[in-house]
Amino acid sequence: METVTNLSVRLTELPKRVEARLDMAFVDNALGDLALRKNVEVKDSDYVQIATDLYPVGEIDAVATGSFRGSVTVSCVRCLADVTLKPQEKVNATFVPMSNVPKDEFEEGEDIDPSEADVFGHDGENLDLTAMVREMTVLSVPFAPLCSEDCKGICASCGHNKNETTCTCEPAIDPRLAALKEIKL
Ligand SMILES: [Zn+2]
Ligand SMILES: [Zn+2]
Repeated sequence: METVTNLSVRLTELPKRVEARLDMAFVDNALGDLALRKNVEVKDSDYVQIATDLYPVGEIDAVATGSFRGSVTVSCVRCLADVTLKPQEKVNATFVPMSNVPKDEFEEGEDIDPSEADVFGHDGENLDLTAMVREMTVLSVPFAPLCSEDCKGICASCGHNKNETTCTCEPAIDPRLAALKEIKL
């Protein structure tokens, strides 16, 4: 599969099948703002790819149906070790003229209506799959990825990875209780 950087297709070429592989630079760019990505050294093996059919719908719209998969590295929320995710999703998106895209689609903190989440804009000449692939890349990362279900995390006192070594530290004091102890009456 061809590694590409340009996911733009002329609307007049539809119907068309697009198969594209995006390398680690794309993944890194898409996930760059995620805290879970901050500690991760960029992996050459990271990629995402799509294989999708694009069909015109009516005069001005288009749909994309196909598959999305990849290999994406983030860090475990408990021990910060690398976690390699292997997302595999269906592509199912509608492309409408930019002015018809539902507004306030991705306002922060708002729940996304799944039926609206897969609507993207085109400029009347070209349909660009970049935003869709970026979004699928971000959505492929779970809220709290774990290296394993029973990850023991990091010792709050000495910083040891408790999956690798055991330490003899006392159980950490709840910081809220510690704060109470500081208060002199
Ligand atoms: Zn872990
Ligand atoms: Zn410890």
